[in-house]
Amino acid sequence: MTRALVMFSGGLDSIAAVKVLQEQGIDVIGLNFSSNFFSKEKAEAGAKQLGIKLVNVDLTKGKQFKKYLNVVKKPKHGHGSAINPCIDCKIFMLKTAKSLMKRFKADFIATGEVLNERPMSQTKHALNIIEKESGLKGKLLRPLSARLLPQTDIEQKRIVDRGRLLKISGRSRKPQMKIAQDCGLDYPSPSGGCILCEKAFESKLRDLFKQKKRIRARDIETLKFGRHFRVGRNKIIVGRNEKENNVLLKLKNKSDVILEAVGVAGPITLLQNKASRSAIEVAAGVTARYCDSKKHFVTIRYRKGKFIEVSKLDDKSIDKIRI
Ligand code: SF4
Repeated sequence: MTRALVMFSGGLDSIAAVKVLQEQGIDVIGLNFSSNFFSKEKAEAGAKQLGIKLVNVDLTKGKQFKKYLNVVKKPKHGHGSAINPCIDCKIFMLKTAKSLMKRFKADFIATGEVLNERPMSQTKHALNIIEKESGLKGKLLRPLSARLLPQTDIEQKRIVDRGRLLKISGRSRKPQMKIAQDCGLDYPSPSGGCILCEKAFESKLRDLFKQKKRIRARDIETLKFGRHFRVGRNKIIVGRNEKENNVLLKLKNKSDVILEAVGVAGPITLLQNKASRSAIEVAAGVTARYCDSKKHFVTIRYRKGKFIEVSKLDDKSIDKIRI
C-alpha cells in the first residue's frame, strides 16, 4: 500500500489534502509540530476525525527548541507581515519530515499548501524554494494544487493518480470547505493557530531577542501573558485578569519583584531582572495606573513589608515604555 507522510496542522487545508489522498486509497500518516508558538490540539482533533495516525515532533525543548528558535530569529527568506518566518519554517519542517520517511515507511511527503493562498509562502516562486531547499525536489506533493504545478516523481511513476489531484489556487477556501463538508468533517476557522503571525506578539518577541542571548522556552511563555513594558534592562509585566495574575506569580524568579496595590483591587505586576529603585518606582506607577483606585496617589507593596506611594503613570508615559 502506498503511504504518504502528510504535514498535518489540523487546519482546513491539511484536512482536505489528506482526504484527497485517502480517496485514492493512499495510507496517510499525519506529521505535526508543536512549539511555544503553535500547539498540537487542532492536529489531534483533525487526525481523530480522519482516522489517521499522528506523529508529533516536539519543538519546545532541547536541541529542537534551539534550532527552531534560530529559524524564527534569523530566517534566510525573511519574515512575513509579523515575525512569522513561513518559508524557512516550512523548509525546517519538511527537512524533518524527510528524515522521518524511512522510519515510517513513507513513499512520499505531501502538504496542504495551496498555490497563491498566502502572499509570502505560497506563490509559485516560494513553493519552488521550499521544495528545493528542503531537499525534496520532485518528491513533494501538494494534492490541492498539484495540477497547476510541475509533475512530481510520484505522479510520473503513477504511484499517485495526477488526474484525481486538484487544481485549487487563491485565497478562497470554498473548494476545501466543500471537500470537508461533503465528508461530514469539522474544520477549524482559517485564522489563528500560529502566534508568530500576530503583530502584538512580534514586538514582544523582538524585544526578547534584543535583550537576551540565551532564550529558554519559559521566556517565550512569559510573552503570552499580560501587558509588557521595558525600562532599561528591566521588564514590567502587568496581569490583565485573575488568570494572568496567577500565571505571573508562578513565573516569578528569585531576582524578580512582585508589586500590587494595597487596599484596592488591581493587577499583579512582575518586575523582572534585579530591579533598581528607579525601576521599582516606574513599575509601581504602572501598577497604580491599572488598579481600581480613584485617587491619584496609590500605595504599592513591592516586597514583603515594603511599600511605596506613587502617582499613577499617565497614558503618554505608559505608551513610551510599552513594548
Ligand atoms: S504560520 Fe507559523 S507555523 Fe505556519 S509556516 Fe508560518 S511560521 Fe510556520
